[in-house]
Amino acid sequence: MSSGKINVSVENIFPLIKKFLYSDHEIFLRELISNATDATLKLKHLTSIGEAKVEYGNPVIEVKIDAEGKKLHIIDQGLGMTADEVEKYINQIAFSGAEEFLEKYKDSAKDSGVIGHFGLGFYSAFMVASKVEIITKSFKDEPAAHWTCDGSPEFTLETADKTERGTEIILHIADDSTEFLEESRIRELLVKYNKFMPIPIKFGTRKEALPKPEDAGEDYQTEYEEVDNIINNPNPAWTKQPSDLTEEDYKNFYRELYPMQFDEPLFNIHLNVDYPFNLTGILYFPKLSNDLQIQKDKIQLYQNQVFVTDNVEGIVPEFLTMLKGVIDSPDIPLNVSRSYLQADGNVKKISNYITRKVSDKLKSLFNENRADFEQKWNDIKIVLEYGMLSEPKFYEKAGDFALYPTTENNYYTLAELKEALAPTQTDKDGNLVVLYASNVELQHSYIEAAKEKGYEVLVLDSPIVSHLIQKLEADNEKLSFVRVDADHVDNLIKKEEEQISRLSEDEKTKLKEVIETVVPKEKYSVQLESMDSKSAPFIITQPEFMRRMKEMSQTGGGGMFGMGNFPEMYNLVVNTNSDLATSILSVENETEKSALVKQALDLAKLSQGLLKGEELTTFVKRSFESLK
Ligand code: ADP
Ligand code: MG
Repeated sequence: MSSGKINVSVENIFPLIKKFLYSDHEIFLRELISNATDATLKLKHLTSIGEAKVEYGNPVIEVKIDAEGKKLHIIDQGLGMTADEVEKYINQIAFSGAEEFLEKYKDSAKDSGVIGHFGLGFYSAFMVASKVEIITKSFKDEPAAHWTCDGSPEFTLETADKTERGTEIILHIADDSTEFLEESRIRELLVKYNKFMPIPIKFGTRKEALPKPEDAGEDYQTEYEEVDNIINNPNPAWTKQPSDLTEEDYKNFYRELYPMQFDEPLFNIHLNVDYPFNLTGILYFPKLSNDLQIQKDKIQLYQNQVFVTDNVEGIVPEFLTMLKGVIDSPDIPLNVSRSYLQADGNVKKISNYITRKVSDKLKSLFNENRADFEQKWNDIKIVLEYGMLSEPKFYEKAGDFALYPTTENNYYTLAELKEALAPTQTDKDGNLVVLYASNVELQHSYIEAAKEKGYEVLVLDSPIVSHLIQKLEADNEKLSFVRVDADHVDNLIKKEEEQISRLSEDEKTKLKEVIETVVPKEKYSVQLESMDSKSAPFIITQPEFMRRMKEMSQTGGGGMFGMGNFPEMYNLVVNTNSDLATSILSVENETEKSALVKQALDLAKLSQGLLKGEELTTFVKRSFESLK
């Protein structure tokens, strides 16, 4: 047996790093600015603890394009490096100076905000540059150093004559990456990744109007001065204490995050934990439409104020991905795949924490100003209902604030709803029957009929409501939901009041026969009922069970019975005590008889919103004819 060491040489690894380190070449700028920020924050820390005896001042990081020279410069006024440090930090791939710094100053520096930790970021420069130079002057009393490397493992290191403290990185942009010499492209990257980084970033200059002098005459022309153009806001709202922020501050920050968004957020939730993980952020509830898909990917994820991604899947519970805002946490492992994320203990804790914060906030909004909460309900319900379905922990808490509005604008919690409906809507078996409408326009006549009976009707119109109802029924004994058009109003809540029939059994059989010759069998099942003579003679209903199954198969969670195409089936309820039923039987002429049935069927369809297209046109024509 023999053993040894696999020989990995830098020559082999270097091109691999260049090619595969990051899939996105554009992140090189984020990495270099992160290093410049780290260098500045480290200096700040060292001056604050008295280890660096220099003036910290007001350092900025400058990004400069030299289009003619095909170069991009990133210049900082941070702690710089001595020649020895360049040897140590730059020439050793995967040795992180950031990590070393945090290790060395463990206790005092944990809140310093230092970003780097893999010791690979710097080399991302070679993804876009054919040659990289570092000119750096340490805050220590040592000469400046000049390091050059053309992407091969060979480098040169010599002294330089730079006198001011800090580091300048010069990228000689490669021929296939000239987009990074364009001002608009660099600006785009700075805004995307660096908008909230903690050290001011200068990119070019801009003109600022000078104040108008007191003695300015009629023909005064505004004068301008050139000022540094600072790209970022180094102190974004989420890094501050909630007690230092007003409602207006939160709204302003929303606008800063989404400059193209014109609606105002409904409310916000400030996140702030440091144990057992570090996380800050602000989440906003935007006004939502019923289209769930387009709302996603609006929450931005940062690490120490550096933008990482706007895909927060796996980190934020799915139902909250419809919110907006920022989350900043150094504790989210981003170098691993998303499916692994879900198994990570820390990430699970973060997700649970966010869920809890959101439900606490909702509860306090509900308690503090219920009227206002009710007003916002329609804009937030989709998120909450989705959360109740998908997160058991959230479902538990939502009992306190989830609302069930009625057509009369009463907003009940589930407990209040049960209490309010018990006297009128309990059926003969003691079940509480909750009537609801999914569309107040389309189901208008059914709602009116129910209201006339003294029933209250809920408005439940979100796309996932059938799933939610199913869950509520499963979790609450003797509670059932029935849509107003699921049956004739007399049967919606069964109370055992038999109506006496006007027609004999014989007449009923005849009536059914007549109707069935006109009405298509595969769509309608004809049911004769003895009801109040003033009730509608023909009415179309769709049994609750059938309709709900169909809906659930359409909005996911279905497929359980393999019912992709659930047939459209209705009941045609005919009131045998109505005058029309008597007329149909008494008309002698066969054509007139079926015309009567046809007209009644069309009227029933019309009130269920089922009469459309050609059928509707024919109906209107025929009705006008009959007026002549
Ligand atoms: P990381 O940032 O993860 O430590 P990098 O590869 O990005 O790794 O950088 C390696 C090291 O090089 C840094 O830790 C730091 O010590 C040094 N360095 C890089 N850029 C600068 C800079 N602008 N000023 C001072 N030191 C720097
Ligand atoms: Mg770095």
